[in-house]
Amino acid sequence: MAQCQPLITRLIASSVTAAAQAGKIIRDVMNKGELNIVEKGKNDLQTEADRSAQNCIIESLSRQFPGVTIIGEEGSSRCEVPPHWIVTDMDQEVLNVKLPEHLENVAPKDVCVWVDPLDGTSEFTQGLLDHVTVLVGVAVGKKAVGGVIHQPYSKNPQTSSMGRTLWGIDGVGVGGFKPVPPPQGRRIITTTRSHSNKTVQEALDAMSPDEILRVGGAGHKVLLLLEGKAHAYVFASPGCKKWDTCAPEAILRAAGGTLTDLNGDLYPYDPKAPHPNAKGVLATAPGENHAFYLSKIPDSVKQEL
Ligand code: AMP
Ligand code: MG
Ligand code: MG
Repeated sequence: MAQCQPLITRLIASSVTAAAQAGKIIRDVMNKGELNIVEKGKNDLQTEADRSAQNCIIESLSRQFPGVTIIGEEGSSRCEVPPHWIVTDMDQEVLNVKLPEHLENVAPKDVCVWVDPLDGTSEFTQGLLDHVTVLVGVAVGKKAVGGVIHQPYSKNPQTSSMGRTLWGIDGVGVGGFKPVPPPQGRRIITTTRSHSNKTVQEALDAMSPDEILRVGGAGHKVLLLLEGKAHAYVFASPGCKKWDTCAPEAILRAAGGTLTDLNGDLYPYDPKAPHPNAKGVLATAPGENHAFYLSKIPDSVKQEL
């Protein structure tokens, strides 16, 4: 039955289960307490959880979708993974969606999947576990068209089980949660907690915010926009990468919001796209006037990027 569904439907449905399995692996690593931290660069950490979660997602997806390009934050070396890390089942809710026509007959060679197996590593190592997300974004050509954000440490109040998974597909909408509009009459801006600098702060000041929420992870910040807790995510730095924004951008757009660089241009997500989001990130909640926030970015900030 599932094999009859279009590629994009199956890919998102498999990404939902793979991201949830990665979330379980992340919790297991933290419970064991052996993070084995590696410094990839300045202010850029990798832990055993990042590596294992990526292996789980990439092995699971590449076995099921051999012709699709998959790019993971933690590099491309494929290795032996425990069999129970590999998932092959697909999310039934996603399998039931009807895709818009332009996504129905996409070929594997035109698809690129961007995987951030653990977004918010810095916060993860500091025990700020609710900042952590698993991100799987799906692009067709240059455009981010679908994505999954999994929160390994979100607790279901009814069942006490851990892990919440949200998905979105261009022209379909979002699943796994219901977006909430942010409060009227205030301007709440979310931004980085651990990668700030003078230019980042200059862009924030220019927004005249009523409140600034400094939290970890691109996934977590876009969730704040979707949960009505912030109006905009402003990050005037080239530090974010394509795997940070592909899934959040697609889900945000599916819900009616927008994510661009600080000039208002969309980032490309084809396999040749440069990894850094060199011109910064501006994301706005559904219903917010994206152009208004763009107009507030000082020219001096744009020139710094
Ligand atoms: P943050 O908002 O600081 O949590 O950053 C969002 C995402 O971009 C995370 O995956 C960070 O690791 C990444 N990022 C942002 N700035 C930098 C930077 N200066 N160096 C390395 N990674 C960064
Ligand atoms: Mg990240
Ligand atoms: Mg990461």
